[in-house]
Amino acid sequence: MNVAIVGAAGRMGGRLIHAVLEAEGLKLTGAVERPGHPQIGMDAGLVAGAGELGVKINDNLAVVMADADVLIDFTFPDVTLQNLAVCAELGKLVVSGSTGFTPEQRAAVAKFAEKIPVVLAPNMSVGVNACFKLLKEAARILGDEFDVEVVELHHNKKKDAPSGTAVRMGEVVAETLGRDYHQVANYHREGMCGERSKQEIGMQTVRGGDIVGEHTVYFIGMGERIEISHRAMSRDMFARGAVRACQWLQDKSPGLYDMQDVLELK
Ligand code: NAD
Repeated sequence: MNVAIVGAAGRMGGRLIHAVLEAEGLKLTGAVERPGHPQIGMDAGLVAGAGELGVKINDNLAVVMADADVLIDFTFPDVTLQNLAVCAELGKLVVSGSTGFTPEQRAAVAKFAEKIPVVLAPNMSVGVNACFKLLKEAARILGDEFDVEVVELHHNKKKDAPSGTAVRMGEVVAETLGRDYHQVANYHREGMCGERSKQEIGMQTVRGGDIVGEHTVYFIGMGERIEISHRAMSRDMFARGAVRACQWLQDKSPGLYDMQDVLELK
């Protein structure tokens, strides 16, 4: 399976190049960056510290996708939508880890996925996806008696907040408890904001240094507390998850899938 990576010179792009090189049945044939990026024309392997690969970083996705079966996209929602338009036109598969989509942008992704198979997941790690499953079970057992708060920590370069993973964790709990996440998510407490309501799910964000990504969901009851936590030590497990998604996607029909589908956790 021939793979192209967009955002190839980014933090995730570099780790994705290493992961594709290590993966069985995958070959890196293309690397894309934004027009004007200083590393356009350079060897993608050298930029990633993986040795020379003979794959130059290009700024034209359509040209690169002529040789590729699947695009791995870890960029930003507006860029991902442009990339999906190109891939839908060419009939290519897409695995995207971009985060920060608005509900309207997610609907636009779903529209493209009517034409091509797409995996979109705010967190590609196997551990985090196991946490989603554990959260569902915890919320089901604990019900409305426990207050739920989500706290996430990330590096100081992260552009969106709260993280896509934290939002998904909040959504999983809300769905299990029969609540509408967008109605009950509370992102801000300040001053005389009053007592905590029973239904709300607190969403708190910490930014600093080089933290790869940490998430904790607190289920807080009277006299006891359960914490379900995930800590990412490096970006490699996100990249390995994306590779696994490519391998899984190759014989799938058009549709919008997530890592729960890839890992068969549904
Ligand atoms: P980054 O800023 O280091 O990398 C993004 C890259 O995209 C940059 O190199 C940038 O130049 C490139 N880019 C921007 N516009 C482009 C365009 N129009 N065409 C081609 N390339 C373009 O960011 P990062 O830390 O690698 O994160 C990228 C995305 O992946 C973010 O949305 C982040 O939240 C997400 N992420 C997801 C997971 C997951 O498991 N799903 C894990 C980590 C990060």
